[in-house]
Amino acid sequence: SKARRYDQEEGPKITFNDVAGIDEAENELIEIVDFLKDPSKYTRLGGAAPKGVLLVGPPGTGKTLLAKAVAGEAGVPFFSISASEFVEMIVGVGAARVRDLFSQARDQAPAIIFIDELDAIGRARGQAAIGGASEQEQTLNQILTEMDGFSSRQGIIVLAATNQPDVLDRALLRPGRFDRRVVVNLPDKVGREAILKVHTRGVPLANDANLAELAAETPGFSGADLKNLVNEAALRAARLGQNEVHFEDFMEALEKIILGPERPLLLSP
Ligand code: ATP
Repeated sequence: SKARRYDQEEGPKITFNDVAGIDEAENELIEIVDFLKDPSKYTRLGGAAPKGVLLVGPPGTGKTLLAKAVAGEAGVPFFSISASEFVEMIVGVGAARVRDLFSQARDQAPAIIFIDELDAIGRARGQAAIGGASEQEQTLNQILTEMDGFSSRQGIIVLAATNQPDVLDRALLRPGRFDRRVVVNLPDKVGREAILKVHTRGVPLANDANLAELAAETPGFSGADLKNLVNEAALRAARLGQNEVHFEDFMEALEKIILGPERPLLLSP
């Protein structure tokens, strides 16, 4: 049977230019970009480069975005799977897909493999819900086997995202596997302003649309929340026939988001 392509990204390339407000995490990944650009530069003296990096943080903070940006900056292909896809699968299917994924990445190395929601299959063995356990174990074992099976000289980096690092099977965290951890936190006020700037690049802002002030009004918002806020404000302004998005549009959108959605059906995603 024909190998499936794992969402290898096409279309516009994502770079660090698209990521904001999580500078520390970004800086920690610069070394990975450098490695992918020229793996032999790192390994020529016999050292082993990292193979796996765990991106840890709450939902919507930009873990997937960051992984794509690493691939984009390095100019290497991006292969991704979401571990939650495997949960309902027939025994053996998840493991086969993992094997296939790594095989494709090896063929096109240097490359990035991204595993989203690692905790969905990476939970400590024996702790899984009844029924799904053996499938989950097989899939997890296959990930461990694949990670042990390639040499860091091959130029493959596996990035995995989780918001529950504590439940992960310890075998995943051993040296040579996901032995590095990059924390991707919710942005602070300055970070939120930077993220708002990224997401309003294509949006005509009125003079009163002060993004610093908006950042101050949105504590606890993730990058994904801020993107949604900009989108809702732009829709509101358009609906009202305006040519620019005003501060009031943002505040109304904010109120709507905080109070819960009352979306007109036509605008539902
Ligand atoms: P999840 O854990 O739910 O998968 P995540 O941390 O992977 O979330 P993303 O899927 O990367 O988050 O974020 C969703 C979208 O929100 C991104 O595609 C991007 O448009 C926007 N976004 C999130 N964080 C940032 C950020 N730090 N800078 C710019 N945009 C961001």
